[in-house]
Amino acid sequence: MHELSIVQALMDLVNQHTPPGVAVEAVTVEAGPMRSIDDGAMQLAWQSTVVDTALAKARLEVRLLPWRLQCPACGLQWDSEELFVACACGNASPRPVGGNDLRLVSLDVSDPPGPQAHSGVG
Ligand SMILES: [Zn+2]
Repeated sequence: MHELSIVQALMDLVNQHTPPGVAVEAVTVEAGPMRSIDDGAMQLAWQSTVVDTALAKARLEVRLLPWRLQCPACGLQWDSEELFVACACGNASPRPVGGNDLRLVSLDVSDPPGPQAHSGVG
C-alpha cells in the first residue's frame, strides 16, 4: 500500500506550509495517473496517519488527473481518461507525458483563536 508513504510525505509538506497555531481544515492534492493512486486507499492511509496529530480533523481531497497523451506521429497532445486510445490522426500508440505528478494544491486553514478580546471585566 504505497498510499501510506505518499500520505506521510504529504503530511510533512502540509506541516511545512502551515504556520504554527493554525488549524488545517482541508488538504487538496492532485495526483497524476502514473501514481496509480486509489482515492479510497488514500483516505484510509490519511485517517490512520493523521489521527493523534494536529491534522486529525483535516479532510483530504484527492483529485486524480487524467492522462496527458502525446502522439509520436503528429505531435498532438491531449488529456484522456483512457491510456490506450488512438490519436485523431490514426496513430494507435500515443505516449503518456508525465503523469507522475503529486502536487499539494491547496490548504484550507482556519484562523487561530486569537487572544480573547478584552472584556473589561475586573
Ligand atoms: Zn497523431
